[in-house]
Amino acid sequence: MEFRVAPTDSDLFTNAKRQLDRAFQHIDISDDAQRCLEHPKTVIQVSIPVRMDDGSLSIFQGYRVRYDDTRGPTKGGIRYHPSVNLPEITALAFWMTFKCAVVNLPYGGAKGGIAVDPKALSKLELERLSRGYIDAIADFIGPDVDIPTPDMYTNSMIMGWMVDQYNIIKRMKSPAAITGKPLSLGGSLGRDDATGRGGYYILKKRLEKLNKSAESPTIAVQGFGNAGFHIARLLYDDGFKIVAISDSKGGIYNPKGFEPYSIKQFKDETKRVEAVYCEGSVCNGIEHDRITNAELLELDVDVLIPAAMENQITAKNADCVQAHTILELANGPITYEADMILADKGIIVVPDILANAGGVTVSYFEWLQNRSGDYWERDKVHHRLQRIMSEAFEAIWRIASDRDVDLRIAAYIHALKRLTEAIDSKGTREFFTSK
Ligand code: NAD
Repeated sequence: MEFRVAPTDSDLFTNAKRQLDRAFQHIDISDDAQRCLEHPKTVIQVSIPVRMDDGSLSIFQGYRVRYDDTRGPTKGGIRYHPSVNLPEITALAFWMTFKCAVVNLPYGGAKGGIAVDPKALSKLELERLSRGYIDAIADFIGPDVDIPTPDMYTNSMIMGWMVDQYNIIKRMKSPAAITGKPLSLGGSLGRDDATGRGGYYILKKRLEKLNKSAESPTIAVQGFGNAGFHIARLLYDDGFKIVAISDSKGGIYNPKGFEPYSIKQFKDETKRVEAVYCEGSVCNGIEHDRITNAELLELDVDVLIPAAMENQITAKNADCVQAHTILELANGPITYEADMILADKGIIVVPDILANAGGVTVSYFEWLQNRSGDYWERDKVHHRLQRIMSEAFEAIWRIASDRDVDLRIAAYIHALKRLTEAIDSKGTREFFTSK
């Protein structure tokens, strides 16, 4: 099947559809299903007026894309970032559709975002913007329609403001309308570290499949936010060596390894990214070399974990990657062209739609708890998350070895079986034309 738009690294949605196109070559699915999955179901763009602290009015552009809801209400995060744009949000909604099918959640995929630098806003401006976004999209979300959750530069407090605003508009208490909320507003235990934890379970499974077992595998993590910090600390606690960490401004490297907790503490206490680079007196005693984000990706480590932005490993730097395994905790960190180069080098890429599915899985648990009123212990959340992630990994690993395809294609095949079964169960061309 040909797609109409010429692929470029910068058009994330085109990149995403090229991955799907590659999977179509390995699975026999109906033409109807293929065509349904080519287009987003609903695309919403809104202008959000916000009264700023100095009295001026700013207008922010917001988006919500519901890609496919055949398997259930749509689900996906809300991102605040200056570079948020429609193709990006559409690609993220597309990946959510496949991610939910990979781990067999009864959801379709969605994503939202606002083009804003949240660090430039005061707390009150941030709250007004978040409530304004919900005012703009309230008619298109809800517990049985579309359920937002946090993504980059949004967090549980922002979800708390959002669910509160939704409740005000609807004149009812509807905690299941948004997940990733604070515990006191109906959040779930274990949602805070779910993305990192899910990735940790998956990486352990992947390393079990390696014939050689490294004493204490070395890890580089790009991005030190929710996803990156939690996977770093879980791996550290398990005896892995975290030799490099970065955030948006750059990174640190020490072949002897870092202890992630104190670095996180410095970052939280000072609210200054410099703390991560140990400038001044904030982290005297932490030995490190300063590196750039580009250098981090090319380090001689066992495992590379991109946990920040998309399009980080491209045709330009893929050949320099030295890790034997890349765990895509971020969405879309590897371009289509880079994927081919990494495959030629024999590097195993654990794709985003599997590796970072822990977040949406525990969001699903939160939604279940909100709807039943029965709240779970943390152990139950961890246990069920581990089971779901492990089963998905084993199924995808099997597909990859049976069909001799990489894990990304295997993950798409796994998801496509579920998606096409749902699409085709409403009738196919053959069904409607047969006597
Ligand atoms: P976050 O806002 O908590 O943290 C983002 C981190 O990335 C920060 O440390 C920031 O400094 C860093 N960063 C930003 N730009 C960077 C760059 N160019 N280079 C290096 N670091 C950079 O965000 P998060 O929730 O951890 O999300 C990170 C990634 O994980 C995103 O791709 C997101 O879509 C994906 N993800 C998150 C979740 C979740 O539950 N939070 C679930 C699935 C996938």
